[in-house]
Amino acid sequence: MHSQIVWFKRDLRISDHKAVHEAAKLELPSLFLYIFEDILIKDEHYSERHFAFISDCLTELRIKLRSAGHDLLVLRGDCLSIFEELHQKFQISRVLSYEETGIQKTFKRDIELAKWFSQAGIEWLEFQSNGVFRRFDRARNWHYDWETRMKLVQYDSDPAHLTPLNHQIESFHPPFRRNPSMQQGGETIAQTVLADFLQSRVKNYFKHISRPFESTDSCSRLSPYIAWGCISIRQIIQAIDVHSAQFGSSRALRQFRSRLHWQAHFIQKFETECRIEFENINPAFNALRQDVNETYLNAWKSGQTGYPLVDASIRCLVQTGWINFRMRAMLVSFLTHHLWQPWQAGSHWLAQQFLDFEPGIHYPQLQMQAGTTGVHILRVYDPVKQSREKDAEGKFIRKWVPELNDVPYELVHTPWLLSPMEQAFYNFMPGETYPNRIVLTEKTGIEAGKKLWPIIKSADAKKLAKIYMSRHVMAPERRRAIKRGKIF
Ligand SMILES: Cc1cc2nc3c(=O)[nH]c(=O)nc-3n(C[C@H](O)[C@H](O)[C@H](O)COP(=O)(O)OP(=O)(O)OC[C@H]3O[C@@H](n4cnc5c(N)ncnc54)[C@H](O)[C@@H]3O)c2cc1C
Repeated sequence: MHSQIVWFKRDLRISDHKAVHEAAKLELPSLFLYIFEDILIKDEHYSERHFAFISDCLTELRIKLRSAGHDLLVLRGDCLSIFEELHQKFQISRVLSYEETGIQKTFKRDIELAKWFSQAGIEWLEFQSNGVFRRFDRARNWHYDWETRMKLVQYDSDPAHLTPLNHQIESFHPPFRRNPSMQQGGETIAQTVLADFLQSRVKNYFKHISRPFESTDSCSRLSPYIAWGCISIRQIIQAIDVHSAQFGSSRALRQFRSRLHWQAHFIQKFETECRIEFENINPAFNALRQDVNETYLNAWKSGQTGYPLVDASIRCLVQTGWINFRMRAMLVSFLTHHLWQPWQAGSHWLAQQFLDFEPGIHYPQLQMQAGTTGVHILRVYDPVKQSREKDAEGKFIRKWVPELNDVPYELVHTPWLLSPMEQAFYNFMPGETYPNRIVLTEKTGIEAGKKLWPIIKSADAKKLAKIYMSRHVMAPERRRAIKRGKIF
């Protein structure tokens, strides 16, 4: 008997699913498979929260597949051994899956699998995910290609069109449980979150995007659903376009749409240059930040730096798995500039906390904020300025740092400035109820700039930045031709 396998990876949905759509074109018995991979369960980027989110997604997938006469086979182990066993039982003719722009481990796993599939005579059909190309071609107009793909009709991917394979294999029952303060996985919830955002929450999107308290509601909160593929970017783009046609466009909608474009743009860079999981984008910065200070690192990870907005952001992230973009940037800036730690010291830990961990956004963003690209503007965030601007009334700080509950909002950003009388009055004991500042950012910010600017301005860094850009940016002659309207 010959068969085919639809292998779910980071594409945990049924709708607009090319692998399901393509599988329906052959009348082969079909098996739907998800593998909890040992290499990922043990990997330092992942934590229980990710696997609990995936488990929720699988529960819904299974229900949907069952209603179409199929089962979802969930296994745990090593992909190669699992495919070898399945091949012995069911003579696999082809495997259909989405391409994955992952960490080095999944990249190596895919190379190993491709080799084995080819030796075993199994065809592996891999489909492009969210407009990211496997090989970046400077001669192509990437933005035009992306827009074109987003406008294509969504795939008809009804599993009822596939012939079920009767397998009799017992599924692995994932023991991972969701913390109720985190977002729940699943395709239906993803669609609900999108609809709710477009109908009401979007109105304050751009106004609140950088504010940690308000953005919890005003941002789309689609990131984990996008990262685990519960929804395709095309589904979101088309929903935005329908909404705009019906109710008119707005600045907020356009800003939101542009971020969906960034999603693929960042991942595209990582797809071509996955070494940046380990190395600085620009090697001119390699000599900096060699030593890890465990005391600083532990204070940062536990939200005990003495900087209320930094501590509130860390605690919110640990508890809920999400924090807005500006606070993510500030946390990395605090770690790398003010505490002068290598970004590598925080990368795994942050990935474990982000429910939406997406390697292709995570690593380029970490390096942008750490100032190791030599391409982007150096931003050293002042946590006090951020606090006064983005949480003026201290609502976010009070929610996550209850030690400061009694302190009036004008003073909550700088508790170290409280006089002894105010300390007694507001029930605040520095060093006891809340830590003293571990560094003085008014000094560390200047020191970081003094170390970084000479490198940024150096001929070496500029040359290396140019080389990096030449690998990721469209060829200038093509860009000029497009501008002149000569070609697309
Ligand atoms: C250090 C650092 C690490 C980050 N790591 C991740 C990560 O692992 N996974 C992740 O999805 N985002 C990451 N981001 C980007 C951004 O913070 C989140 O996408 C956003 O906060 C998610 O919330 P949302 O879905 O409500 O965002 P919205 O503002 O509603 O945006 C909608 C979607 O657009 C995409 N997007 C938004 N901002 C960006 C951006 N700056 N770059 C690329 N795509 C973007 C995301 O897919 C997001 O879900 C990181 C940012 C920083 C500074």
